[in-house]
Amino acid sequence: MDALETLESLSSQMELEHAEESRAEPAKPACFTPKEKRAAFVYPAQLPNGKQVKLLKTLLSSACERDCYYCPFRAGRDFRRATFKPQEFAELFMKLNQSNMAEGIFLSSGIAAGGANTQNRILDTADILRNRLGFRGYMHLKIMPGAEKAQVERVMQLADRVSINLEAPNTERLAKLAPNKTFIEELFRPLQWVEEIRRSQPAYKGWNGRWPSTVTQFVAGGSDESDLELLTTTDWLMKNVRLKRAYFSAFRPIHDTPMENKPAVDPLREHRLYQASFLLRDYGFDLEEMPFTGTGNLPLSTDPKLAWAQQNLKEKPLELNKAERRELLRIPGIGPKGADAILRARRAGKLRNLSALRKLGIVLPRVAPFVLLDGRRADKQLALF
Ligand code: SF4
Repeated sequence: MDALETLESLSSQMELEHAEESRAEPAKPACFTPKEKRAAFVYPAQLPNGKQVKLLKTLLSSACERDCYYCPFRAGRDFRRATFKPQEFAELFMKLNQSNMAEGIFLSSGIAAGGANTQNRILDTADILRNRLGFRGYMHLKIMPGAEKAQVERVMQLADRVSINLEAPNTERLAKLAPNKTFIEELFRPLQWVEEIRRSQPAYKGWNGRWPSTVTQFVAGGSDESDLELLTTTDWLMKNVRLKRAYFSAFRPIHDTPMENKPAVDPLREHRLYQASFLLRDYGFDLEEMPFTGTGNLPLSTDPKLAWAQQNLKEKPLELNKAERRELLRIPGIGPKGADAILRARRAGKLRNLSALRKLGIVLPRVAPFVLLDGRRADKQLALF
């Protein structure tokens, strides 16, 4: 295999890794050149600051000594493995970067000779890129199960974002997915270390002067866990270790793995979990307010904010001229920008009709059933409107 074939092989299953709002498939947008369109390892992605980049998502090695039941790279699975040496990979990436084929990098690896040794290879690669080859672009680095605290700190000094995939919401569920990973010691503790380091030390000055953000990923539905379990862990992490976001990857069976006969999970479940996690993170909702069904799952048929509003606001609509910002955020169709626009408009006078709302960019059919405008139900006005 030449270097590009090795890279293609190492990146072949990376659509399973959600990162930086990258599309599920390596897309071929019009802005990509024919050469880039063939490069199935580069994903158009949106960075946390909103910038669009071409993100290379890859592994340093597809050889792995662990045997996670769901994973295409698990030990013993029969396929051709590939491995880059740190220098080799760093030089290849810089060629892609200099020819404008890849602007940022998401780097993970299968585990060989232990998590700490594997982490060292990721660190060596990042160190060469940053300090010998002068790469200043976006870097998202994986923290390996079994990494040591000093390694976690060094990863944080080089990366813009770090991640540790929990895969399951707790010890019991992880045992169903990855019996040779330990939930607390190998996965949960490093997430806590990241926050301990951020809180106890000033940000490292060598790279961009900021500590990286942290994310994690769950295999949604892989261990028969409920949405309540996934969101309980997500909520705790957001509140206690400043997790920036959780990614949910709906379980898909992989041929020649112990879970190959388990049915795939509806991707809509992934979408509902994202919606609920954003309500917890950005909209001031509590976990207890999520509209879980008796099985502890979110309804697939309705988005969780709408389901909450149907239960709580349908009979008691909110007066838009009096509602506080946190109340406005609970109304379907009103996000942070819409809430701020309403508050600004109220300073200039009362909101009396739907035209006033439409001028603020508010989607009327979503909002109208749950609000009053100057004492009158907006949904009645909507019929006339
Ligand atoms: S440790 Fe990672 S690469 Fe290895 S089998 Fe488990 S999930 Fe796959």
